[in-house]
Amino acid sequence: MPNAIIIGTGPAGISAALYTIRAGIDTINIGKDHGALGKATEIENYYGFSQPISGKDLISNGIEGARRLGANIISDEVLGISYFDRFIVTTKENEYHADSIIIATGASRATPKISGLNELEGSGISYCAVCDAFFYRGKDVAVLGAGEYALHEALALLPTSKSVTLLTNGKQPSPAIPDEIKVNTKAIASLQGNNALETVVFQDGTTLSVSGLFVANGVAGSTDLAKKVGAATENNRILIDENMATTVPGLFAAGDCTGGLMQISKAVYEGAKAGMAVIKFLRK
Ligand SMILES: Cc1cc2nc3c(=O)[nH]c(=O)nc-3n(C[C@H](O)[C@H](O)[C@H](O)COP(=O)(O)OP(=O)(O)OC[C@H]3O[C@@H](n4cnc5c(N)ncnc54)[C@H](O)[C@@H]3O)c2cc1C
Repeated sequence: MPNAIIIGTGPAGISAALYTIRAGIDTINIGKDHGALGKATEIENYYGFSQPISGKDLISNGIEGARRLGANIISDEVLGISYFDRFIVTTKENEYHADSIIIATGASRATPKISGLNELEGSGISYCAVCDAFFYRGKDVAVLGAGEYALHEALALLPTSKSVTLLTNGKQPSPAIPDEIKVNTKAIASLQGNNALETVVFQDGTTLSVSGLFVANGVAGSTDLAKKVGAATENNRILIDENMATTVPGLFAAGDCTGGLMQISKAVYEGAKAGMAVIKFLRK
């Protein structure tokens, strides 16, 4: 029987599996952790919940539902994909062979090592402006980063925040920054606050008071896997057509790794589409 491997157990990967499993395709999902949703404390913009739900609970519900349908979910880290007659997926623990693959590994958000950053995650430190801007409306916020992604997050915060400062942590910003966004290039020493973020302390001893810090230190990851089998990528996203197909036959991608709106609803939609596309590909 032809089989599929889905790399990722987030909304995109699990959504894809719901379709392939129910179509009778032998499917394995491989995931290494809870992905982006593991960092989301409260989701209140996804259909079907009368109360906010934590990212971890949403993921657990998704995985449990897929298991009920017979999903084979493996906890492991994928190190590479290659192709020789069939796809070969190399993980830390094993090697798997597949006729078709869906990459649903999300967008890895590079996190700099700054004292206080991990401790204040979810309490003033966010990784998603579109998701969390609402919680910081009318407040002073900052974006940590110096590239296009950081500018994108800063622009998303401008309409609702009192002020937006781009903190480049010693780097020069690569894109041109509009006047409405303040730029501070000083190296950061630590992030401080009692129960939530209050102050950014710079290495020269000066400080900046902010209620929110959005980490946008570049996006990397999923494209590395795609590139290993020769699939085209652009600006840290995997290029796909309208059927979620990459430029390599049998290799599909879904969710945050394809760029655009990084939200659960889009990941679930693309996962479903990729699942359907795999079914069609394997039945040909
Ligand atoms: C702090 C935060 C808050 C958010 N809040 C919201 C919100 O309120 N509403 C909303 O709609 N969206 C929100 N998002 C965005 C949302 O979480 C993502 O859009 C969504 O999870 C993307 O789903 P995905 O399946 O594409 O990727 P992910 O959920 O990131 O899943 C990726 C999967 O791939 C796996 N993986 C990655 N690399 C490997 C590897 N090498 N080997 C094996 N497995 C691998 C991971 O373990 C994981 O299972 C938030 C994100 C963050 C970070």
